[in-house]
Amino acid sequence: MSIEVKNLFKYYGSQAAVKDISFKVNSGEIVGFLGPNGAGKSTTMKVITGFISASGGEVKVCGLPVSSDSLATRKLIGYLPENNPLYLDMYVKEYLTFVGKIYKVENLKERVAEMIKKVGLEVEQNKKIGQLSKGYRQRVGLAQAIIHDPDVLILDEPTSGLDPNQLVEIRELIKSIGREKTVMLSTHIMQEVEAICDRIVIINKGEIVADDKAADLQLVGSKLTVYAEFEGTVSKSLLKKIPGVGKVEQVKGGWLLESKENIDLRKAVAKFAQENDILAITLRTEEKSLEEVFKNLTK
Ligand code: ADP
Repeated sequence: MSIEVKNLFKYYGSQAAVKDISFKVNSGEIVGFLGPNGAGKSTTMKVITGFISASGGEVKVCGLPVSSDSLATRKLIGYLPENNPLYLDMYVKEYLTFVGKIYKVENLKERVAEMIKKVGLEVEQNKKIGQLSKGYRQRVGLAQAIIHDPDVLILDEPTSGLDPNQLVEIRELIKSIGREKTVMLSTHIMQEVEAICDRIVIINKGEIVADDKAADLQLVGSKLTVYAEFEGTVSKSLLKKIPGVGKVEQVKGGWLLESKENIDLRKAVAKFAQENDILAITLRTEEKSLEEVFKNLTK
């Protein structure tokens, strides 16, 4: 287990930003930590990285408790904080050397060159950080996070503010780094987790509301609604009488029938059609997008 968060609480004054959350991140996983703004993502990540202390509960990184072994756990973690704070007046190489020295990295010159190559900074390596575009600054942020070869990477909103091309490039980079490391990344963008992550933990108002594989989260949503097309005219009031059917909505070409409970309605709809001598031309479960699942869980 690379990260273990158990019954974590964090208060700012009297405000609870994180309330009794527990989750695990296994070695080699890329986990997306998803939630709306203010949900408690950064707070949780800051506790894991040892930047702030917990008000209650326990966090372990690679089996070591962060609260009592902060120095040891920090060596195991690479951290890209929110908004990627960098020294803009420093040159790329100068900055990475500076960070490497803090971590007492051996053969630092070679390691800096290796990092520059790994994150695709070769062309920009002789510039000042302040002269770089946002995408390249993000590469510097990633390079400083992995320079000491940590087992675990904590990335707080690593793609926020990037243009669509930069976004794709940085996601690819995170994926390739993720092949060798355990990664936890926060975002409020659903497509991001779909594109990068093995598993999703959703936090809302300081509490975990979902923890599952992306495909399984969608499956939960997909059972709820059936799309049906019938030959001839069928009334809404009649469809509402089908056992188990809740909301009924007419859409282009057919009907969306929402289940009252989380069950597949196709059998009930087929039976209804047969009994009423109506021909059901199409009957399929509607896949809810992860976006909708997220909205439902965090509204
Ligand atoms: P997220 O990263 O999901 O946007 P945060 O962890 O930054 O959420 O914030 C969670 C809650 O804690 C918010 O209500 C925020 O205003 C509050 N908060 C965060 N940092 C501080 C702080 N240093 N002092 C007081 N309140 C804070």
